Amino acid sequence: MIEVSGLTKTYGNKRGITDITFSIDEGEIVGFLGPNGAGKSTTMNVITGYLSATAGAARVAGIDILENPLEAKKHIGYLPQDPPLYLDMTVNEYLDFIYDIKGVKGGMKERKEHIDKVCEMVGISQVRERVINNLSGGYKQRCGLAQALVGDPDVLILDEPTVGLDPKQIIEIRNVIKDLGKNRTIILSTHILQEVSAVCERVLVINNGRLVADDTPTHLSAMLTGDHKLEYRIAGPKDKIIACIRSVDGVKSVTPTVEAEPGAYEYLVESAEHIDARKLIFQSLARAGYPVLLLKNQDLSLEDVFIRLTADKKSPAKGAK
Ligand code: ADP
Repeated sequence: MIEVSGLTKTYGNKRGITDITFSIDEGEIVGFLGPNGAGKSTTMNVITGYLSATAGAARVAGIDILENPLEAKKHIGYLPQDPPLYLDMTVNEYLDFIYDIKGVKGGMKERKEHIDKVCEMVGISQVRERVINNLSGGYKQRCGLAQALVGDPDVLILDEPTVGLDPKQIIEIRNVIKDLGKNRTIILSTHILQEVSAVCERVLVINNGRLVADDTPTHLSAMLTGDHKLEYRIAGPKDKIIACIRSVDGVKSVTPTVEAEPGAYEYLVESAEHIDARKLIFQSLARAGYPVLLLKNQDLSLEDVFIRLTADKKSPAKGAK
């Protein structure tokens, strides 16, 4: 649905983004993650046709954004970082206006039905008569989302959609986005890690203008640990349990840590790269009659991953596809 290849944008002699390539399938919700100044907005502005690329191409629904901008833009709903709201209009007036400037086709009946539907999707039906300036930050953001949805685009590009909102509003907007993603392709940029874990199935990490990783949040965490580290709590005699786990193929080390419950120790178990030893360990312990009371994954959090990927400002990390 979105194909970006070799995208480079320079501002004067300053590099905004360099050689960015990725593609996004229909129906995916993809997080675009990176520190401030990484190049997220630049990439989004090029995909949406607000900026032209210095090199490379962006296609939306198979249409090149530079060659055929009007057709490509019909597929895109864009929520820039500062929503383009007219604060002295009511919500109704504003959405009517957006309907006109987007050139959506339809008579009075279709227009009313469409705007009703959009308001319902983002939860602003009850504030439609109110002047936008008097709405809370959360409702203003919903109005921004509503304008992106006018014309029923199949791709939504949302630049930092929860910036400046309070924690309750953030959760509400994230839920709206997840709902919208059920039948749309969404790119959402953020510098907030929890946002990616909460909303996205896939994450593109951008740093210093380059793509440094493209993966699922969970796989990214697991991949970057190298070895899988698992923490077990197991009831039974320590020495026998250590021997039992060591006998499993792929296990590199077993280290007892604390007696967490009477008669049950915790063990840190490391297995070789790309081996998931959990099933074998479970079977081995079950055969020997030592019950597993707790199992925790010690892989890196997305936060650790992000710090690793963006620590070296000069070169792309190995995780980039
Ligand atoms: P992000 O959205 O990740 O915060 P941006 O895409 O806004 O990052 O910026 C990427 C880089 O391009 C930054 O170094 C920024 O200073 C630079 N940049 C962005 N817009 C302009 C501009 N209009 N003129 C000059 N440099 C810019």
